Amino acid sequence: MSRAKFLELSGRINDLLNAASILAWDSRTMMPASGAETRGQQIATLTVAARDLLCSDAMRHALDAAEAEVANTPGTAEAAMVEQVRAAQTYHDRIPVALVQQRNLLAVTAHEVWAGATREKDFAIFAPALTEMVEVCRAWADAAGYEKHPYDALLTTYEQGNTVAGLDQLLGRLRDHVVPLAREVHAAPQPDDSFLFGSFDPARQRQVASALAQQIGYDLSRGRIDTALHPFEISFTREDVRLTTWVSPKSLSKAIFTTLHEAGHGIYEQNIDPAFTRTPLATDLILLYAVGGVSFGMHESQSRLWENHVGRSRAFWARHYGTLRDAFPDQLGSVSVEQFWRAINRSAPGTHRTHADELTYDLHVIFRTEIERDLIAGTLPVAEVRDAWNDATKAALGVSVPDDAEGVLQDVHWATGQFGTFCNYTVGNVVAAQLFETAANESDVAAGLAQADYTPLRGWLREHVMRHGRRHIRDELLTKATGRPIDPAPYLAHLTRRFGEVYDLN
Ligand code: ZN
Repeated sequence: MSRAKFLELSGRINDLLNAASILAWDSRTMMPASGAETRGQQIATLTVAARDLLCSDAMRHALDAAEAEVANTPGTAEAAMVEQVRAAQTYHDRIPVALVQQRNLLAVTAHEVWAGATREKDFAIFAPALTEMVEVCRAWADAAGYEKHPYDALLTTYEQGNTVAGLDQLLGRLRDHVVPLAREVHAAPQPDDSFLFGSFDPARQRQVASALAQQIGYDLSRGRIDTALHPFEISFTREDVRLTTWVSPKSLSKAIFTTLHEAGHGIYEQNIDPAFTRTPLATDLILLYAVGGVSFGMHESQSRLWENHVGRSRAFWARHYGTLRDAFPDQLGSVSVEQFWRAINRSAPGTHRTHADELTYDLHVIFRTEIERDLIAGTLPVAEVRDAWNDATKAALGVSVPDDAEGVLQDVHWATGQFGTFCNYTVGNVVAAQLFETAANESDVAAGLAQADYTPLRGWLREHVMRHGRRHIRDELLTKATGRPIDPAPYLAHLTRRFGEVYDLN
């Protein structure tokens, strides 16, 4: 009886947050810009209603009773649900309501200031708002609590298992490997990729990209694909998982790889255990949104795995290049599959994170994470962030930042108070390689990949990662799947192998 009440209230929280998500999807795909202000209020109302229900007396009573019931069955999914609701209640009880309001309000006003500063290409305009945001986030960290470093409190809300100490080691090892490899790659003769730029019918691009997403396993009958300026995946239970993509009429590879990336996120959501639908195991009760995947980093591991390990492989294009060439015979008629494969894997250092290739991408993430860490610790004043950014870009990538819009103002994350998320793009890359290495050791997975049959790989991921949803945190999942927690070695080996092949390095 009491467990039924617990599940009923948990289901209602999930419903409210799914409703907020569909408002968010609409606002990023269909809504006229004039709806933005009231839409923000509508989403906030639903999110606060979910938080209030989570912390209500009714939920506290139901939770007490459910906790007593599952006490004899530790390790079950029900026990995990109860544990997660208890942890979330405790977390939200610690954060003063005034601080939540202050952060939400500031996220809106700081975003406006950031957008203006970006237009003017002047960080100084944004600096006072950033100072305020750093102070609010530090207050948040103090309220949430931490053992060693205030940034730990923020990191763990996006990815349990991320700590300053752990990231310093992981990212340091990555930089030591990638910087010299990138130097070697960028000094080598570059593959011609001019045929990827020109004029490409957008409708035909969408058609090919959608077909490829379905080939790797995205179930379009339980989703849809639209276009958006900033592509994303979003789910309203595993039965309705939507993707957006970005199509450039001038660039061929953008739509394909964006779609494969978002399809990777979508496949994850579509393969969560159906028993978790409308439960706490399909709800992020800390950040308050409905989602099936366990964390930012694990989610990114799934998108990167399909985008980079499958989608940028020779075997993938050996099978699918004919379809693409048939769609664009004028542009690709004289381009061989080998030329195409090298072109889509070309690496060039740049100032922009979102335009970065597979090899240089993490370098952008590493220095952002260090700047965030030092901002939250109070050891880097906001007034010095622009110089720190420009120096780090030069040191890591060897390129000079032309202006603040191309530099320190290029990402929206700080304006909206998201300190602690950048690192998860790299965590995703590392985890993707670790999972892919173990999966590809299975003979049926390897045989499938060679024949463009993705069913065995998807089956392996479903069994070891996807079906578990939010039941286990990242390092538990990785340890069950690969025998160890997060380990950068497979990723470093992958980068050396891939760019060694593309650039014929010895
Ligand atoms: Zn992603």
